[in-house]
Amino acid sequence: MKYRTDMEYYLKLYPEYEKLYINECFICHMKGCKPDLFERTGEKLSYTAKRITKFFNRLELNEIGICEQCAKFY
Ligand SMILES: [Zn+2]
Repeated sequence: MKYRTDMEYYLKLYPEYEKLYINECFICHMKGCKPDLFERTGEKLSYTAKRITKFFNRLELNEIGICEQCAKFY
């Protein structure tokens, strides 16, 4: 998907946003929004944060930084 690739490119240019808003599973390297991005609806989200929530699905990581899917196997 083209947009998805654009977004990943964008995040490479602005790694500070990636740190703030993106979770990455350290096993499968799937990327997604930090769940708290969606919970902060009362607050004004920055333009970037809003864009990110459109391009990435919510990704919950457990306490050791792996996604639900990978957690099933470890
Ligand atoms: Zn994973």
